[in-house]
Amino acid sequence: MWISVASGKGGTGKTTVAVSLALSNKNTIYVDADVEEPNGFLFIKPVIKEEFSYTELIPLIHEDKCTFCGKCADACVYKAIAILKPVKKAIFFPELCHSCGLCSFVCPVENAIEEVPKEKGRIRKGEKNGQLFIEGILNVGEASGTPLIRGMKKYIPHDRDAIIDSSPGTSCPVVESVGDTDFVLLITEPTPFGLNDLKLAVEMVKEMKLPFGILVNKHEEGNSLIKDYAREEKITILGEIPFSREIAEAYSKGIPVVDVLPDGEKFFVNIMEKIRKGVNTSG
Ligand code: SF4
Ligand code: SF4
Repeated sequence: MWISVASGKGGTGKTTVAVSLALSNKNTIYVDADVEEPNGFLFIKPVIKEEFSYTELIPLIHEDKCTFCGKCADACVYKAIAILKPVKKAIFFPELCHSCGLCSFVCPVENAIEEVPKEKGRIRKGEKNGQLFIEGILNVGEASGTPLIRGMKKYIPHDRDAIIDSSPGTSCPVVESVGDTDFVLLITEPTPFGLNDLKLAVEMVKEMKLPFGILVNKHEEGNSLIKDYAREEKITILGEIPFSREIAEAYSKGIPVVDVLPDGEKFFVNIMEKIRKGVNTSG
């Protein structure tokens, strides 16, 4: 079973929850797909056993063969190619390219476009007390983490449960990291901003037809903002982590919430059981 942990915005405690879920449930793999700012390793402190570069193919236009017909530029939805017909010049913007291969497919001239490898980022694999760890680190200047996340997913073994820590927000990298997962755990906090971002995240997972539930972080007694919304929308709240100075201080020292929450391990084992039940019921 693959569980993705997402949040409509940053700073909601998504990583500490994802790490805690992985640490309390034996035999899971923690996957840090927040490739622009991976920080799960600060909490897990794994021993890195393998590190390699992740490359994808990008086009190299050979101007000596190119007829400057412009078909490749017209086909590229990301505007990564500009063909200047009057001066017979082809310009390629690698930071915009999504390595879809369409330009070379539509090019009518043999060998005018060659596909060459380009490093998108690095993938690291490690371990700590049997806890497997995978993370992606996007190269500086890359426009999108989506290809690297797609690549990382190929390295997740299928014989264990995986907890995939997504980027914050609802952009393409998040869609890629929650896509193909069996359940999305949405982390939110009970503030008007938190609710607003939660609603965007809920829209995204509903659109993707994925089973999901909510975990409220920094919950304060008497605050029913998220509860009221969840009741109206018939969304399950899987748990609430209380607002606590101790938890916030622990976070700043790289200690995950599971280690400071009273009965933390039991709390996260219980969340996992509810998720399993949700996945089985949805079918
Ligand atoms: S489609 Fe091929 S021939 Fe036409 S402009 Fe692009 S690279 Fe050149
Ligand atoms: S590979 Fe795809 S995204 Fe990249 S330049 Fe070609 S058409 Fe555009």
